[in-house]
Amino acid sequence: MNVMDVLDELLELQDVEISILREKNQLARLKDKRKELLRKRKELKERLVSLENEISKVKASIEDLKNFIVYKQDRLEELRKQKEHATSRKSFKEILRQIAKAEDEIIRAKAELAKLQVELEELEEKSKDERLFLKEAIGKIDNDLSLLEKEIERQKSKVSKLEDRARTVRKTLPEDICEEYEQLKKKYNGLVFSDISSGACEGCGMSYSSAEFASILKELEPGKTRCPYCGRFVIKLR
Ligand SMILES: [Zn+2]
Repeated sequence: MNVMDVLDELLELQDVEISILREKNQLARLKDKRKELLRKRKELKERLVSLENEISKVKASIEDLKNFIVYKQDRLEELRKQKEHATSRKSFKEILRQIAKAEDEIIRAKAELAKLQVELEELEEKSKDERLFLKEAIGKIDNDLSLLEKEIERQKSKVSKLEDRARTVRKTLPEDICEEYEQLKKKYNGLVFSDISSGACEGCGMSYSSAEFASILKELEPGKTRCPYCGRFVIKLR
């Protein structure tokens, strides 16, 4: 492998690695967005469930009362039959007393039932708009989440393709060069080869004077010439 080929491969490796970092950052942003949407969804869902629970509680009380009334009405019918066949004056009077008690209980239960039905209607009416809003908001979040999920999958596959590419490029390079490159990468914060096309080093940000720039360009030997300020290998891509 000649020097220029090695340099080309190293430049590609650097490019791919920078892309990996960028795409991984993007992936992290997407995951943060998902976390935020899930948090929001949970909050809306809790509000909706609490409103619905309030309504269910009243509905359950209404059901209980209805059952109670049916039960008492059956009991009343039974007592009325018993009354027909009372064997003594004393038991007749006792049955009458129980009938009056059951009738009274039914009247009170019906009054309570009517009150609860009004309460239920008011409750349903009062939270109608909010429940509708919450349901729509949750539906919208679910939709956003499913789109986001697909985007995350696409982003993951983008990253893994780039990682495959980086592995492939590394395999073509001699091992000692790879090791040296890794060490330089640590030293130079990931950017070993710095483009100076703009007249400044993209690695350290230093702008060269025109005389300095002209002299660097004149002597530029890719893979040898270094930035006089940060020591990165300089290249001219444009
Ligand atoms: Zn520099």
